[in-house]
Amino acid sequence: MAVAANNVNLSPEKVTAKLALIFLGPPGAGKGTQAKRISNELNLPHLSTGDMLRDAVTRGTELGLLAKPIMARGDLVPDEIVLGMVEERLKRPDCTCGFIFDGFPRTIPQAEKLDEILHRRGFGKPLVIEFMVNPETLLKRVAGRWTCSIGGETYNIYERAPKVPGICDNDGGKLVQRSDDQPEIVKERFAAYQKQTLPLADYYRGHGNLQTVDGGAEVNQVTRALNEILKRAAGSDGHL
Ligand code: AMP
Repeated sequence: MAVAANNVNLSPEKVTAKLALIFLGPPGAGKGTQAKRISNELNLPHLSTGDMLRDAVTRGTELGLLAKPIMARGDLVPDEIVLGMVEERLKRPDCTCGFIFDGFPRTIPQAEKLDEILHRRGFGKPLVIEFMVNPETLLKRVAGRWTCSIGGETYNIYERAPKVPGICDNDGGKLVQRSDDQPEIVKERFAAYQKQTLPLADYYRGHGNLQTVDGGAEVNQVTRALNEILKRAAGSDGHL
C-alpha cells in the first residue's frame, strides 16, 4: 500500500544520496509491513532475506535445500550463505541508489560484513531503525499472521483482517500461514533473536546510527513515525 510521499516531504527523486535502511526487530514486529510501505514511497527495493530464502526453498534450489531444515527449526541460516545471497542481490541495478533490509543483518558477523560491502559500494553508514514491541503483542501478531500466496500481502486476524476470511483483498489470492509461525517454532525464533540479533542494537548504537520506533503502535502511526525519522535524516532540504 502506497503512502503519500508528501507525508514526509520525501519522494523518490529526493533520494539523491545512497540510502541503506535497516529495519531491526523480532519476528512479528511489523518490519515487513512497514518496509513494503516505505519501499513504495521511496521507490527503493524491499530486501527481505526471509522472503529470498523461502523463495529458494519453494524453487528447490541448492541453497533452498540447505536452508529448508534450518528454517523449519526456527534457527538462523549460516552467515556465509545469507551473505552470499545478499551480495548477489545487491549487484542488481535496482539497488544502485539504496534498499531497505528487513530481517538482515541478524548476527554481528553479518553486520560487520555488511559494513564492508556498503563501503565498497559507495554507501555511507546505514540508517538502522529498531522496532520496539512488547512480547504479548509480538505473539499475537505472529499467531494471527496470514500471507497472500500470490502477492505476499500480509494480514492479521486480530489487527488487520481481510474483508473476506482467507482471501486477499488486493488480488483474491488464498491466504496461508507460514509453517514457522507455529508456537513451538516461534519460541525458537524468538530465542535466536534474543541471543544472536539483539546484540546488533548495541553494535549500531555504538556506531551512532540507531533510531527506534514504537512498533506496537497502530500500523499507520508506525509509518508516520518512520516518516519522521526519514525526514530528520533528510535534513532541511528534504534530500536524503
Ligand atoms: P523471517 O521471514 O525474516 O522471519 O525469516 C525466516 C527465517 O529465515 C528465519 O527464521 C531464519 O531461519 C531465516 N533467515 C532470514 N533472514 C536471515 C538472516 N539474515 N540470517 C540467518 N537466517 C535468516
